[in-house]
Amino acid sequence: MSKSKLEYIWLDGYKPTQSLRSKTKIEEDFSGKLEDCSNWSFDGSSTEQALGGSSDCLLKPVYIIPDPLRKNAYLVMCEVLNADGTPHVSNGRATIEDDDNDFWFGFEQEYFLWDTETNKPLGFPANGYPAPQGPYYCSVGAKNAYGREIIEEHLDACLDAGLNVEGINAEVAAGQWEFQIFAKGAKEAGDQIWLGRYLLERIGEKYGVAINWHCKPLGDLDWNGSGMHANFSNTALRTAGSKEVFDKVCESFRPVVKEHIEVYGADNHLRLTGKHETASINDFSYGVSDRGASIRIPVLVPQKGWSGYLEDRRPNSAADPYKVAARIIKTVKSAL
Ligand code: ADP
Ligand code: MN
Ligand code: MN
Ligand code: MN
Repeated sequence: MSKSKLEYIWLDGYKPTQSLRSKTKIEEDFSGKLEDCSNWSFDGSSTEQALGGSSDCLLKPVYIIPDPLRKNAYLVMCEVLNADGTPHVSNGRATIEDDDNDFWFGFEQEYFLWDTETNKPLGFPANGYPAPQGPYYCSVGAKNAYGREIIEEHLDACLDAGLNVEGINAEVAAGQWEFQIFAKGAKEAGDQIWLGRYLLERIGEKYGVAINWHCKPLGDLDWNGSGMHANFSNTALRTAGSKEVFDKVCESFRPVVKEHIEVYGADNHLRLTGKHETASINDFSYGVSDRGASIRIPVLVPQKGWSGYLEDRRPNSAADPYKVAARIIKTVKSAL
């Protein structure tokens, strides 16, 4: 007989930003397969998902990977259901309409490694500021790259777990980093981003370093904010062969700016200022190779005869990838 540790992971009901929660279930002779993970429950009154008088919410396992940080262990991503089995209002995953996995998503998750003692990014002195932005992006060396042992450990953990990380890089601000995850299927892309975030939080614990997901943790100062650019495609875009298809899809985003911004992460007005490689939150624009636009058409698209994908640059680092994907799919489907 062997015993496995299954970490059931879900999103709480906090507004405007949901956080990861998890608890461990011990299973005997567990197969490692999703279909052998039973539903579980938790106290929704402790996570702003239920009232004390009728507090049980259900956890429905939807995605499983080995847990590279623990012995005999798995990470089990779950959807939250009401006691009657219907999706809870906090459950963005259940709102994704992509049953045939036609939508592919690549999310670029930016974040800050955060020193809990100074309450500043790693690399910032306790008083004052480091040298201005410029040398940190894709940097090497102790003068400019802060926390590499953490992000390297995270990359290995993701790869060991089977997450489809496509790359990592140091970002524009000191102590700011990015990882990219790609999946064929919107739900899986969301599952993998949340599990990637979970692993980073866990590794951060070991170093006493917090992960700051806020989109503008240094406020108004001349430091970049953090985004979660959403790169997306469906068969129509991947095989378009015509500029008109790209224009039509991009234009379909124009009348629903408000609906998109609503799910693109809290406090995005602080980040989408028109500075620091962003477009203003009040405008909508798109363009080839344009990193100051709301939606960028990668230069490879015209080079490949107008086929490929689009990058919505507006979602921020704290956005829920499930809700971002659900909204993008809805808008793209309205165009084609
Ligand atoms: P940049 O920093 O230049 O915006 P990155 O290399 O960080 O670009 O991210 C590009 C992302 O686009 C990657 O996550 C990649 O997986 C994703 N991507 C590439 N092709 C497609 C596609 N056909 N559909 C969806 N996403 C894609
Ligand atoms: Mn990137
Ligand atoms: Mn980036
Ligand atoms: Mn990008």
